[in-house]
Amino acid sequence: MEGSHPSSIITRIVNRRQSPCKRFGSMSANWDHEADSVNRRKIDMHDFSYLTGISLHEPSPRTACRQKLVPAAIVICLIILCPQCSIAEPAYPRLSPSEIPPLPAHPASQRPPTPPARHLPVRWVRESEEMAAPLRIICYHPDGVVADRAMARAIARIHQLNAVFNDYDPTSEVRRLCETAGTGKKVQVSDDLWRLLALSLKISEQTSGAFDVTIGPIVRLWRRARMSREMPPAWRFDQARQAVGYQWVRLYPEERAVELLRSGMRLDFGAVAKGYAIDAALQVMREEGVPSALIDLGGDLGLGDPPPDRHHWTVAVAAVKPGEPPSYFVRRARCGVATSGDRYRFVVIGGKRYSHIVDPRTGVGLTDQSEVTVIAPNATLADALATAVSVLGPEKGLAWVETFPDTAALYLRLVGDHTEVHTSKRWKELSGETADAQL
Ligand code: ADP
Ligand code: MG
Repeated sequence: MEGSHPSSIITRIVNRRQSPCKRFGSMSANWDHEADSVNRRKIDMHDFSYLTGISLHEPSPRTACRQKLVPAAIVICLIILCPQCSIAEPAYPRLSPSEIPPLPAHPASQRPPTPPARHLPVRWVRESEEMAAPLRIICYHPDGVVADRAMARAIARIHQLNAVFNDYDPTSEVRRLCETAGTGKKVQVSDDLWRLLALSLKISEQTSGAFDVTIGPIVRLWRRARMSREMPPAWRFDQARQAVGYQWVRLYPEERAVELLRSGMRLDFGAVAKGYAIDAALQVMREEGVPSALIDLGGDLGLGDPPPDRHHWTVAVAAVKPGEPPSYFVRRARCGVATSGDRYRFVVIGGKRYSHIVDPRTGVGLTDQSEVTVIAPNATLADALATAVSVLGPEKGLAWVETFPDTAALYLRLVGDHTEVHTSKRWKELSGETADAQL
């Protein structure tokens, strides 16, 4: 059974707070910013975003009380220590910084540069749904026309990427590529598909297939299982696994062409496409002269420049127990923050709960309830690592995360009603836990 998303409830909370509020279509401007310079805590109120709950949130006692009334889904985690794993010795080689994907390239803006702001920046919010997930863009700019244009272009860019990576639409670029699997044809692909496929294959290799961008045939089986609530027969899994294996993807760099060597192969970018789209959209906002922006797509976040007069955005990681206020916060700017877990997407069959994240080596959805939050230099990497670490487990996963520059992870796992929390070594530093809470 799939859980429902609480974003609609949270949206109501946000709208009540935006007073007075200007609306242009679905965009709104909040004029409370003038109070922000006096009461900085209030900025926190506007800039809080639940990683998995897509909310704006004020960490005051009153709100904490209010939260108890909101039926937010909660995850509690227990770390199971694997005696064969060693945190001190990463199991995977390092990615060099040059291998971390740069932010996606976009055509240079034809417009003249935006003139320097003569007025105080105003907070603007735009909400919609993209890539089958709730999208929220928050940005600061003195001019509503500029902010609106930037947000509209950012959304159009996400839309465009959906047409590349979407797995449901038979006309998407990925689906068209998959149609050629096993035929011996190589296909020239777009820059976006090339870049994200190359990164995904690297992550697949480094995790020895715990993360596998060719997981599509198995994910399809689990999608059907979520609808029918029945376990697919074993032969179906066997058949699907024949068509899974990142080593069956051949890249031709000179031509930017791809060949899928086995018939029935299906690439699945569900674990990384949102992060990539967020980075692309943030880049557009920057090009349009609106660098102070936060983009939240289904709980994965890209943080641009911080709000005016602030050093960071403040993001709350959802509480692990129902009714509890969040215990973990990320106070950062210019980075990506992503969460993977089975909070909303899972199926219960025979009393056992299976996640939408699958271990490609067994073909089975993860059965331990975990939630992994990753902070990385960009949202693409954060998204990919959050899924990969979910499969690798806390020991191997967190040790591997530590091999990436400026990257940290928080791993929560629930067993019964007991939660254990595990963090990579730099979590405290990179989450800004040591940052001055007043800024
Ligand atoms: P969410 O989409 O909920 O934010 P993730 O980023 O972890 O969560 O992505 C989950 C999606 O990744 C699944 O719906 C599926 O499409 C894909 N996926 C599942 N298991 C794997 C895996 N082992 N490796 C790569 N992709 C996976
Ligand atoms: Mg992911």
